[in-house]
Amino acid sequence: MGGGQEIPVSARDCRDLADWLRLLLHCVRFRESWLGLRSAAGICSALVFSYLALMCLASFCASVVIDPGQVPASFAPDMEGSDGNGVRLKYCGKCSSYKPPRSHHCRVCRRCVLKMDHHCLWINNCVGYANYKPFIIFVLNATISSIYSVVVFVGNILHNDHKFIERASSKLFNVSCIWFNSDDLKHSLGHSAGWHIFLMCHNMTTIEYREAIRAMWLARKSGQRYHHPFDLGPCKNLSSTLGPNALKWWCPLAVGHLRDGLQFPTSRQ
Ligand SMILES: [Zn+2]
Ligand SMILES: [Zn+2]
Repeated sequence: MGGGQEIPVSARDCRDLADWLRLLLHCVRFRESWLGLRSAAGICSALVFSYLALMCLASFCASVVIDPGQVPASFAPDMEGSDGNGVRLKYCGKCSSYKPPRSHHCRVCRRCVLKMDHHCLWINNCVGYANYKPFIIFVLNATISSIYSVVVFVGNILHNDHKFIERASSKLFNVSCIWFNSDDLKHSLGHSAGWHIFLMCHNMTTIEYREAIRAMWLARKSGQRYHHPFDLGPCKNLSSTLGPNALKWWCPLAVGHLRDGLQFPTSRQ
């Protein structure tokens, strides 16, 4: 789902998405069997599940339809080769033009994408400057809803099938199958959520992290310490991605803080 450099496109991504949808559908069935809608717990559970499903759907749709960011034709680089803050200007041979800092060429989209993170098959779109927030909200909601689903599965068994240990019933077998089938999914979502939280806290993209590994090695070799130029500290890093108002962090469409994506403050400023 994430983590690749430019084309992390694979059949595994499709299987992960199918596993996740199947997990949610099973969750509805088990939730009805366990709690129903005739108790306060049942109503609360239905509300939580509906909220998570709605947030997943909204953030998924937003990350699919929002353009990640295109380099405008009017972009005029500083011809000294640097933006003045220690960030080198780069040239894209495929687009035959200079690209702004943090932009990269996507071979799938066949264009340079602003603050490109990776191209994601789940959303059939690049994850870049303008849709990174909806994407990370989608990943976090999908992870939470998957954990919630597992809680519902286990709760349903413990509540409705008191002799399940003796009988080793088909229900247990069913849940085991779902559990193991979603093994890749748990790793994919859990890894992706943790990974992007780490990146957000350091104001890095996946591509920049890969570049930083080499930069760190070179710096260490020469007895220096590498510092990511866009790392402004955890608070500023998070607010630059999620927005200055923490109350709107969870809203995938609250992206009013985004600008043109051509310039970014650095720690040297
Ligand atoms: Zn390009
Ligand atoms: Zn792309």
